[in-house]
Amino acid sequence: MPALQPVRGTHDILPEEILRHRHVEEVARATSALYGFAEIETPIFEFTEVFARTLGDTSDVVTKEMYTFEDRGGERLTLRPENTAGVARAFISGGLSQRLPLKLFYRGPMFRYERPQKGRLREFHQVGVELFGVADPIADVEVIALGDQFLETLGLKHRVRCELNTLGDMESRRAYRERLVAYLRDFRDRLSEDSRERLERNPLRILDSKDERDRAIVAGAPAMDEAMTDDARRFFDALRDGLERAGVAYVPNPRLVRGLDYYCHTVFEFITTDLGAQGTVLAGGRYDGLVEQMGGPATPGVGWAAGVERLAMLVETAPEPTRPVAVIPFSAAGAAKGLEITQMLRRAGIAADMGYSGNLQKRMKRADKLGARATVLLGEDELSRGAVSVRDMATGTQEEVPIVGLVDRLAAFG
Ligand code: ATP
Ligand code: MG
Repeated sequence: MPALQPVRGTHDILPEEILRHRHVEEVARATSALYGFAEIETPIFEFTEVFARTLGDTSDVVTKEMYTFEDRGGERLTLRPENTAGVARAFISGGLSQRLPLKLFYRGPMFRYERPQKGRLREFHQVGVELFGVADPIADVEVIALGDQFLETLGLKHRVRCELNTLGDMESRRAYRERLVAYLRDFRDRLSEDSRERLERNPLRILDSKDERDRAIVAGAPAMDEAMTDDARRFFDALRDGLERAGVAYVPNPRLVRGLDYYCHTVFEFITTDLGAQGTVLAGGRYDGLVEQMGGPATPGVGWAAGVERLAMLVETAPEPTRPVAVIPFSAAGAAKGLEITQMLRRAGIAADMGYSGNLQKRMKRADKLGARATVLLGEDELSRGAVSVRDMATGTQEEVPIVGLVDRLAAFG
């Protein structure tokens, strides 16, 4: 029988990688806290309805990418492909609509049946934020500024650009849709198969096509802003003004649309050129109709999600693993004492490791490998005096320290 492999598109996050991974999540959480967002965690699976109803019947996620199954009780369930729908569901079923405005941060795994490649997995992780209850573009400004500061804190400011567009309100969208379809119909036979299908059901998505032929056709399509209502235009102007005040740089991209059906007004993506076609690291927009569409009270919302794996590939400075103190006994009697000392250090909050076996030389090697900042050497003579030797691994200097003073002495190594 062949050895078992991880499922295609899934990966183990090994100890060396997980430091980067957690770093990305921690920076997102800390930056979100600066902006007043509180953490929420929702289940990894939901009733299929939660996604089918909200993401739109025509989005790629719903039509091709969902992991849907029937459980033993006959319920139709789906592993969450994204978390806005889940958080909106929690917002409604948890009665959070009494607490507006509400700012929420989340992190966790998402699942999409996609063709795996670099930066595109079937199980991946996102961090994200949602802001409910504010119809004013100030909310969009805050959410985008948060994304910008998050990426800047990760050291990625010079490697990403923020692209911004507006889809307008419902009326603008309807008017634009008509113009776009009228234009695209003339090219029908030259569009990719996917886009031909989208032409009637979800024509805006064609603007986002990665297909070369589609892109050439789309380049000549009418722009959104010609179809904008005055209200929608005012909203977008206020957003741009707010971003300038907040010190967020952006590039207008009139062709930018998002894959999911529920967006209106603001859409944005932070994109890097360093990851090829998988260059979008953080993306979001406004979704005013979503909560109502799910059966909740009409509630405006705006948010984003960022791909943790893509960001972890970009970050250059990951935190170092904890550097322990290595406790090294010289004999069997020393090993018994070593266990006591190791525990004393750990209970005092000092990371310590004794290894499990081996002679002095082998244990010194292991201490090096662990990156130990200090070693505690348990020689017979010192132990008989109630003391040990502490060696500073950076300088090589060694000194005798009474066991009662060991915790204080080691604390000085920071
Ligand atoms: P793409 O155009 O790359 O397919 P998307 O529009 O489907 O992205 P969103 O649903 O907006 O992506 O998700 C937000 C972010 O989550 C993306 O910008 C990306 O960083 C990350 N992401 C999305 N799908 C995947 C995946 N399959 N594997 C890894 N990261 C992903
Ligand atoms: Mg996608």
